Amino acid sequence: MRPNHQTILAQQASAAPELRNAINVSGTMTWLGASIVVPEAVAAVSAALPQFFVIDDLQRQASAVIAQACGGEAGCITASTSAAVTLSIAAAMVGCDLVQVERLPDTQGLKNEVLLQAGHNIHYGAPLDQAIRLAGARVVTVGQSTSANVAQLLGAITERTCAALYVVSHHAVQYGQLPLGVFIEHCHARGVPVIVDAASEYDLRRFIAAGADLALYSAHKFLGGPTAGIVAGRRELVRAVYAQNHGIGRGMKVGKEGILGTIAALQAWGTRDHAGVRAREAAHLSLWQSALLGFAGVGSAVEADPTGNPLDRLRVTLNADTAGISAWSLAHALASGDPAIFVRDHEIEHGYFYLDPCNLHPGQEQLVAARLRELLAAARTGAVEEIPLAELQARKLAAQAGWPLAAKEPRCQTRIAAP
Ligand SMILES: *Cc1c(COP(=O)(O)O)cnc(C)c1O
Repeated sequence: MRPNHQTILAQQASAAPELRNAINVSGTMTWLGASIVVPEAVAAVSAALPQFFVIDDLQRQASAVIAQACGGEAGCITASTSAAVTLSIAAAMVGCDLVQVERLPDTQGLKNEVLLQAGHNIHYGAPLDQAIRLAGARVVTVGQSTSANVAQLLGAITERTCAALYVVSHHAVQYGQLPLGVFIEHCHARGVPVIVDAASEYDLRRFIAAGADLALYSAHKFLGGPTAGIVAGRRELVRAVYAQNHGIGRGMKVGKEGILGTIAALQAWGTRDHAGVRAREAAHLSLWQSALLGFAGVGSAVEADPTGNPLDRLRVTLNADTAGISAWSLAHALASGDPAIFVRDHEIEHGYFYLDPCNLHPGQEQLVAARLRELLAAARTGAVEEIPLAELQARKLAAQAGWPLAAKEPRCQTRIAAP
């Protein structure tokens, strides 16, 4: 008798170490499994897996759906936005010339310079400039981290410039950068195509409408699709991106389930009750804000998303002296429980973290509120361990270095000195 899915899953589970339940109040994070995939995409992935498709036909269908959703001429689906960056740069260098496609990442004699503002060279789990260099291109930095101007942009353009990359992200420096419109205007005046990395942006049309040659999005972020990247824009350039699947794109291929799941997620996005989602998220934020009232040394404020997505988060600030615990030790205690609660901690060294409301299953907001109150009450009596930030950072590095051993038994004694 053939084993069914249940027995296979049960066998796998008994062979593997225990996994804890997780509640995600950190946002859409690759290391946590990205987002809750919408039911339409789950159904499409499941229906796709046992079938055969001519992939060119599936991607042609995707092209039409992407063009309609994003307002460009064409589109295609890649493994991720990171892959889409690499393939877009490859496309700008070699177009659809199959001999050149197979020659990459050897770019000798090609136009291979890519413009990137210094404040846009982000790290999203890996360095953005590496995604550019993977194609064989060279990054030419424009300006400094907190300042870029038109003279620097024009001065960076040479006869070897093949493209310019513009990043819209909370990770990027949010001031002193060239506005997208100005960036596009000057690049286009010199014949340089502009690719916009908009991986985490809700607005599917804005960047193409502003004149971008390509706009890149992640299917697995706000869209609630499977892990994939979306490329939208000018037909000739999209065709060249797709052609890279016969070259360096092979190792970054997206399967049938990624293509059909992304199409379903894009279609579902068009009919989603966005106002209803917004209202539910606002209710989570006020629930958490009232849960924190009455704790000395704990402040909270609703903050808008830094790149203008229609999304607010709750900033929770701790004064360790009065609250009895620092922001990082509270975040650590939340992540150490079962269910593990993961907060948004990019700026935790400043003494605050964020609660992100957009990846919760019904009822989880209550668990978060209850756990926050429980830990803050315990902290007042000194019952929650205070750990120096440098020690927590060292443990994280040690856990990475010691994988696949569990974090509690680090093999590698990585330590960084306390400041
Ligand atoms: C998430 C992100 C990426 C990487 O996207 P993946 O689809 O996960 O590869 C790239 N750029 C920005 C701005 C991002 O937010």
